Amino acid sequence: MASDVLTVWRTLHVEVDSMTAIPAHPHAEANVVMGNVTGIRGNGMMATRVDVDQNLNDGSPMLPDPNPNVTSGRFENGTITIGSGPQARPTPNLRGNGADYVETRTTSAGFIIPFAIVRSGTALAEGQVVALAGTTFSVRVTAGSLGQARAADSFRLPGVSMTVQSINTQNNTVTVQQLVDIPFELRDDDMATYPFNVNTSLMQYSDDPNLNRFAPAYVRPVYDLTGSREAPFNRNIVADPPNEARDQLTAGRDSTSRNDFWTVYIQGAFQEDARRDQDPISETDLIAGWTPDFDYRGALIFVEAIRDAVASVGGGSALQADIIRITVLHEVGHQFGLGDNTGGVMNQGVINPTQAVFTNDHLHQIRTKLNP
Ligand SMILES: [Zn+2]
Repeated sequence: MASDVLTVWRTLHVEVDSMTAIPAHPHAEANVVMGNVTGIRGNGMMATRVDVDQNLNDGSPMLPDPNPNVTSGRFENGTITIGSGPQARPTPNLRGNGADYVETRTTSAGFIIPFAIVRSGTALAEGQVVALAGTTFSVRVTAGSLGQARAADSFRLPGVSMTVQSINTQNNTVTVQQLVDIPFELRDDDMATYPFNVNTSLMQYSDDPNLNRFAPAYVRPVYDLTGSREAPFNRNIVADPPNEARDQLTAGRDSTSRNDFWTVYIQGAFQEDARRDQDPISETDLIAGWTPDFDYRGALIFVEAIRDAVASVGGGSALQADIIRITVLHEVGHQFGLGDNTGGVMNQGVINPTQAVFTNDHLHQIRTKLNP
């Protein structure tokens, strides 16, 4: 009598987590740079460069560069807001940054830095600042006249007020008695927000390989772990040494994998190393996910880096979802000890879900593993 093969399905308890929300300035992990404007340069008609008192060098290729359209710094496509308080004005879609300045694109209207010269509540002249050197502003007047202004009038930028020392109507310059701090707030083009959600649709609780790539190994994932802890937000997780990534995973993981209770851990994260976070987008070396040393602390899925990379090639939400769910499966594969570029979903750069499968060798390794 032939006996049926007894198939024992294993349950894989998946702990899914997210970093906490992006903290506000002045937290070290805040995704913003704040400081003061130290100078403004332009072409006479508009301001095209703003010098700042903060270090904007995050290790990414940046301005000036022989090929500036390719490598323009972390703040490529970012936004600078100049001025103080609610009146501060944003200039979006930046060309990029150098170590201590940002530039607008030549196709733009330049930095938006409106000024007004005011006496007794009446605006005598209004327009845009096109340059600042020392204590002298060059301006483009769009209403009123500089000729009406004189010493002791108020020279106002958004939320900032100074006292006029002298006016030069031939050069269209205004010299102030003392330069008052002109605050700026600078953000890159990151958009992902908390929670940093991953996509586990390739590993559902199912015996259908279309819904569960682990089904051919007789493994069914379940999502019954409700971890109590969340790891703190970390804007860029340094790749080498891997301590930062391990600490990040340890801070969020509540579950422990045992031979009789299989667990894996996935943390929705922001970005890997600043040189590979797609800011600027010429950083083509996308790191979508990472399981440090293939050890069993778990995997980081870099949701913002994936979003940025997909946006930069004009891809939509479907491509973004595919890359996230393939990355999740790939990184869980690592937690079973599967190596990179060993076929199927473990090959790097897979973006087509139909190719995101485990090979027979992978399935054998998963089936014979004592625990992930
Ligand atoms: Zn890998």
